[in-house]
Amino acid sequence: MDLPKLSIAALGGTVSMQSENTGEGIVPTVSGEALLSSVPALETLAHISVETLGLMPSASLDFEFLLSVLSWANFQIGQGAAGVVITQGTDTLEESAAFLDYLWDRDEPLVLTGAMRSASEPGAEGPANLLDACRVALATHSRGRGVQVVMNGQIHSASAVRKTDSLALQAFSSPIVGPAGLLVESSVRYLRPPSLRNVLPLPQQTSQKIALLEASLSADCSILENILGLGYDGLVIAGFGAGHVSESWADVMETIAWQIPVIVATRTGSGSTAQATYGFTGGEMDLTRRGALMAGFVCPRKARILLWLLVGCERQGELARYLTQD
Ligand code: ASP
Repeated sequence: MDLPKLSIAALGGTVSMQSENTGEGIVPTVSGEALLSSVPALETLAHISVETLGLMPSASLDFEFLLSVLSWANFQIGQGAAGVVITQGTDTLEESAAFLDYLWDRDEPLVLTGAMRSASEPGAEGPANLLDACRVALATHSRGRGVQVVMNGQIHSASAVRKTDSLALQAFSSPIVGPAGLLVESSVRYLRPPSLRNVLPLPQQTSQKIALLEASLSADCSILENILGLGYDGLVIAGFGAGHVSESWADVMETIAWQIPVIVATRTGSGSTAQATYGFTGGEMDLTRRGALMAGFVCPRKARILLWLLVGCERQGELARYLTQD
C-alpha cells in the first residue's frame, strides 16, 4: 500500500526532556529521531521524515524562530507531505499555535503537540501524543482546519486552546467552545465543522515590539507611562473582568492610544470582553471612547501575537476586523 508522507519537527520542551544525572532537573536533549523511535507504530501509518529544529524550553522560542519553522513546514508540504507535526514545550504551545495559525494558508494540517511528563518519567505520554498528532495530521477530514493542538486524546483549535493547568496531564482546554475533536479508539473524530479562517500575510518586518501588561488591584502607572518612551509599537492590556482598568490607567491609556494601537482583553482566562455594558471610567465603553479596541474572545497573549503580525505587515488598521471575526 502507498503510504502518505508526513514530516515531523522537534523543537524541544518536556516531551524532549530527560534528566542527565540523578538529582538534576530535566533538560531538552531528546532529538526528533529519538522521539520517533519511541513510536514504532508510526511506520505503519506514513513515510516519516523527522528533523530536530531546536532543543529548547518553549519559554525561549521566539517569533523569528517560529517564522523559520513556518517556512520549514511550508517546504515539507511543497515536497509532498500530507501534513506536518511539530513537537514543542507546552508552556507556550498556545502562543506558537496561534502564531502559526494566523499565517498557515495551506489546507494540509499543521499539528502541534508536546507532553506534560518528561521522556524519562514513568507514564510519559509524549509517544502517545505524538502518535495521536500524526493520526490527526494524516486524517483527510483534518484538512482546512488550520493549526491544531493535540494533547491527551483531545484536538484543540489554535484560536481557542489554552494551557489551563501548570502540571496536570490534562493541561489544555478550550474555554467555552471545548475541544474541536477527540481521538476515539485511534480514529480522529471532530465535534464541529471547520470554521472560516482569515490568514495574514507574512510580516515584512520583525523588529516591532508589543507590550502586554496585566491590570491588577492598586497597580501604579509607572510602567504604563513609559510604554511610548520605550519605543513600543502596540500595547495589550489584560484587563479586569470584561475588559476594565482603574481610572488612573484609563487616563494614561488614552494618551498611549493616540499614538499606537491599544487592545484591551480579559485577564479572566475565559469569555469575551464587553462592548456596551459598563459606563464607569475605566470600563469598556470609556476605554473604547478613548481609542482602545476590545479583544472580544481573543485572549491577551493571542491579541499580542495578532497585533505583532499586523504591525509587521503594516495592516494594524485592520485590527478591529480580526478581533471581531469570531
Ligand atoms: N513545562 C514545559 C513543557 O511541558 C516546558 C516547556 O514548555 O518547554 O514542555
